[in-house]
Amino acid sequence: MTETAAKATAAVAFAPPTRFAVPGRVAVAGEAAAVWQTATITGVRRETPHASTFRFAVPGWAGHLPGQHLMLRLTAGDGYAAQRHYSLASAPDDSGHIELTLDHVVDGEVSGWFHTVARPGDTVEVRGPLSGFFAWPGDRPALLLGAGSGVVPLMSMVRHHRARALDVPLRMVVSARSPEELIYARELGPETTTVFTRAAPRGVPVGRMAATHVAPLLAEQPAGGWEAYVCGSNGFAEHASRLLVAAGQPVDRIRIERFG
Ligand SMILES: Cc1cc2nc3c(=O)[nH]c(=O)nc-3n(C[C@H](O)[C@H](O)[C@H](O)COP(=O)(O)OP(=O)(O)OC[C@H]3O[C@@H](n4cnc5c(N)ncnc54)[C@H](O)[C@@H]3O)c2cc1C
Repeated sequence: MTETAAKATAAVAFAPPTRFAVPGRVAVAGEAAAVWQTATITGVRRETPHASTFRFAVPGWAGHLPGQHLMLRLTAGDGYAAQRHYSLASAPDDSGHIELTLDHVVDGEVSGWFHTVARPGDTVEVRGPLSGFFAWPGDRPALLLGAGSGVVPLMSMVRHHRARALDVPLRMVVSARSPEELIYARELGPETTTVFTRAAPRGVPVGRMAATHVAPLLAEQPAGGWEAYVCGSNGFAEHASRLLVAAGQPVDRIRIERFG
């Protein structure tokens, strides 16, 4: 079999290494979550002036579901180590590669290393995937609300939706300070509504995500209702979940990931 044919067969056969424990909650494979693996940077793609996507080869990666994250560890020559959580930006596939998108946090230890030091060929350690609660296997209508780098796990869901040509409804509302700060701007399609909080293109209002963005989506209830996924800072998570509840979304169908 040619490599291409083998890849095509593997792509069809790919199944995430996770199972439903209860409806909507995905059991995380304990072994994969516990073992550190070497991840080699194979590419860097600038998304905005403050955010870049890092592509890694992780030959032993067990696969993931959109919405999951991993733990990343940097270790210095003297043994000092720093660990941080990062959401998986890439859709699940069998490429042996994963992508993370990191905001450059001012004075940030780990994000600072990635944005100022890291080069293709450098290695870090990762363990995961982690968290079944924020995972979306693509089995139910998804309403995604994100702000800043909170769009990262949501984009994995959008990419998965496209890659698998899923017909389950999916809508996303993302908030950024300005068009220049909008991560994945080139990739966003008709499923996405953008909100700009500081500066917007001419004719587009500037302001926070509001009921006017969320309520119309809740009004077009798909069969079975929406599963809402909210990701961003603590402040954004509070604000967006209040908007959802006010528009009629059941509290127990709102999943929140906070980046701090
Ligand atoms: C489940 C989960 C998933 C995450 N996914 C992503 C992701 O996909 N992309 C991403 O860029 N980040 C993500 N984060 C945040 C990430 O884990 C780190 O907190 C972030 O990269 C900062 O780490 P640092 O070492 O650069 O900064 P640190 O050295 O830890 O902090 C430096 C300074 O920045 C402040 N600070 C720390 N974190 C933030 C922040 N997020 N925003 C603003 N100020 C901050 C601190 O208070 C401190 O003053 C995620 C967090 C969680 C919990």
